[in-house]
Amino acid sequence: MKKSVVLLIILLFLCGLLPACGTDGGIGSDSGSASDTADISSSGSESSSSSSTGQGSSSSQQSSSSGSSTSTATPADGSWNLILVNSKYLLPDNFTVSLAYIGAYRVDERIKEPLQDMIAAAKADGVELMLSSAYRTKEKSAELYAAQVEKWKKTGLSQAEAEAEAAKWVAPLGTSEHHTGLAVDLVTPTHQVMDHAFADTEAAKWMKAHCAEYGFILRYPEDKQDITGITFEPWHFRYVGVKDAKAIMSAGLCLEEYLGKY
Ligand SMILES: [Zn+2]
Repeated sequence: MKKSVVLLIILLFLCGLLPACGTDGGIGSDSGSASDTADISSSGSESSSSSSTGQGSSSSQQSSSSGSSTSTATPADGSWNLILVNSKYLLPDNFTVSLAYIGAYRVDERIKEPLQDMIAAAKADGVELMLSSAYRTKEKSAELYAAQVEKWKKTGLSQAEAEAEAAKWVAPLGTSEHHTGLAVDLVTPTHQVMDHAFADTEAAKWMKAHCAEYGFILRYPEDKQDITGITFEPWHFRYVGVKDAKAIMSAGLCLEEYLGKY
């Protein structure tokens, strides 16, 4: 009896530790300041709705001046893998996603296997990839954006200037792909900072060359900044499915160009 109680305690202890062991303890978000590991629990999947009250809806309604400047991000044909989320195409308020854990990070459950396959394939080639950010709630994005605005204000910029600069680095509310569960930030143990120098690492080179085989694209290429509105992010990869990923990467396009929406 006593022995079984001890075993139970050991078992519970191990279960509690497993999720933490499964992650690589990434250092940051796209802003390089915070990780998404706050919500650590055991492996499995959950359903999450990104709909929010108050804050969330104001963002999607504020650009009513031109009528068509913002649109719903859900493709009409229902192809979930090609959902476009950016400053013009906001995540719909009723968007929902079923999430699955990889270590402490959450992704759309449909991309868990391809992502794990890509990480395993890199490892087989001697390249270690670490998740640094994955699914993010709207609340988390709002926090990151606010912190980024403050950072720029400290350099002497006005509120409007700081917001414009911050938007190049962190997506404003409702405009981040990380809300979809289809986007991940990947780094490597020897270079965990998400900066432009990451592009020179073996990890970044490997991902750019092989991501499409697993259905991922380099979402914010260096030469597409004027279309995506986002600075070059050699660590940010987006799942679109193998067929579309191969078409996009081989043609050297960004998602906006591929979908003809920019
Ligand atoms: Zn990212």
